[in-house]
Amino acid sequence: MPIKYDDIESYQFHDKDAPDRCFICTKKSEKTLVLRQISSMKLVHLCQECICENINDYLLDNTRPWLGEKGNL
Ligand SMILES: [Zn+2]
Repeated sequence: MPIKYDDIESYQFHDKDAPDRCFICTKKSEKTLVLRQISSMKLVHLCQECICENINDYLLDNTRPWLGEKGNL
């Protein structure tokens, strides 16, 4: 049975974010990570270089459980 979240609003990506490039430097990168921009509280994709240089403005946000069946709990 799929889990329904009440907090879907909290997991929206930034309007200008794209999954295949870095939000800050806009370089295409396959190794982007999803972080939360503190100023907007929206999720963005960042390359590792920009994460290191802007770590004070972004938060890692991996607190949400995965959807779907991943075994018996
Ligand atoms: Zn970057």
